[in-house]
Amino acid sequence: MNGLTGLIDSHCHLDHPRLDKLHETIWRNCLGLGVTQLVMPGTHRAQWPRLVAFCDQQPGWHLALGLHPYFIDQHQPDDLQVLERLIRQKRPIAIGEIGLDYSLPSLNSCLQQQLLVQQLIIARSYRLPVILHARRSHDALLQILRRTGFGEGGIVHAFNGSFQQAEAYLALGFKLGFGGALTYSRAHRLQRLVRSLPLTALVLETDAPDMPMAHQQDRLNRPDHLPYVLDCIIKQRSESPIDIARQTQINTVKALRI
Ligand SMILES: [Zn+2]
Repeated sequence: MNGLTGLIDSHCHLDHPRLDKLHETIWRNCLGLGVTQLVMPGTHRAQWPRLVAFCDQQPGWHLALGLHPYFIDQHQPDDLQVLERLIRQKRPIAIGEIGLDYSLPSLNSCLQQQLLVQQLIIARSYRLPVILHARRSHDALLQILRRTGFGEGGIVHAFNGSFQQAEAYLALGFKLGFGGALTYSRAHRLQRLVRSLPLTALVLETDAPDMPMAHQQDRLNRPDHLPYVLDCIIKQRSESPIDIARQTQINTVKALRI
């Protein structure tokens, strides 16, 4: 590894039950490897109390709260009121993860769009950035961001769209998250994107425990493996490792106003 410090995992779910009993080891490893801050997004109302209590344990663990499109069938109308109450009480750094997931036809796209717009309105009223989840939905998502005039920015996590879509997000004030998918030797398109985008566009993430990296035989992703993502970006770029580490950190701090 690089011996770098101040790295931020801009998207992980260390609170996830699959990582139970591993928290202490993972966090100790993180600090040893220079990963000093973790951003943990919310996904559904039942998870929020646990997540809020979890993030309270360490000053470097940042809370985000939102209703994930993947759970569209579970969300209830009054979840949004609970969300607003928690925003006022717990001051999350962002609303997320929210967005559109068109990869599964069973997830109703109209309901997803409605929920996204409602959460963008909430984010705007509290002047909070958003953490966006987008699968096969970048054009629809971009259209909604433009139509609603959302101006608080944030991060498009696990970005896997085209160069044009990347540019469109950048123009709207967003940063793009890259993680485990980049670690596979066959990820040529993503590698090309990481080479061609400005360094100011990129943020690091693991999405742990999901999106396992190429070397993770147990298929369990963890935030203490974030330096592998950084190494992949370093391999694709001409800037020095220290500049890449520092700039991705600055990008995350700017996007989420940490
Ligand atoms: Zn996630």
